[in-house]
Amino acid sequence: MKLVLLGPPGAGKGTLAAFLNKKLDIPHVSTGDMLREEMKNNTLLGQEVKHYVESGGLVPDQVVIKLIENKFSHDKAIDKGYMLDGFPRTKVQAKDLDILLNGLNKPVDYAVYLDASLPVIVERLTGRRICRHCSAIFHVKNNPPKKEGICNRCGGEIYQRPDDNEETIKTRMSVYLKNTKPVIDYYEAQGKLKKVDADRNSQEVQESLMKIVHSIGEHERGCC
Ligand code: AMP
Repeated sequence: MKLVLLGPPGAGKGTLAAFLNKKLDIPHVSTGDMLREEMKNNTLLGQEVKHYVESGGLVPDQVVIKLIENKFSHDKAIDKGYMLDGFPRTKVQAKDLDILLNGLNKPVDYAVYLDASLPVIVERLTGRRICRHCSAIFHVKNNPPKKEGICNRCGGEIYQRPDDNEETIKTRMSVYLKNTKPVIDYYEAQGKLKKVDADRNSQEVQESLMKIVHSIGEHERGCC
């Protein structure tokens, strides 16, 4: 199964990708996670992108495209399929991704668009907490860790992303509206867009996604 997860920050792309990864063992490829890893390790790339990530702006297309090219050309796990999260975020990235994936004979099956409204997004992002070690996602109200500050899954330290504050969320939303909406139109024009109402709770969203996954399975088996 080869999916692109689209939607505004806070729509639940990461949570959904983690769910699918656990359920179907399909690799979750998140450019945001890859960039944060570079920043954590203070690599040259990490230093180069820090300003963009922390201010909520977009990292230049060539930089993220290169990251994805490297990942897809070298990671054998991708043979099983993939769930792209946070990429593509611009039409240039979407077009380059198509060229790359068609060349590898792994074209996108569907782009799943998680449609969430602004008040829901702000509530989710300001309350979001993340494990520094395994990237598990928590929420102070809706999904708090059993022990404050400690990850249920791996015991790692839980932190708040510096870009999950109201000011930066506003910037990320306007960047999203300007750049990523055309990506949604791009997949719609290809007949690959599946829209999911992401204002609902995560279980309902997961059920909608599983229906899409099953329809891909049936399509691949040539059924219905
Ligand atoms: P995310 O974890 O997907 O919310 O991404 C966090 C930040 O990383 C974004 O606000 C951008 O600064 C940067 N970023 C992640 N993916 C991309 C991308 N595909 N294009 C440009 N910047 C990106």
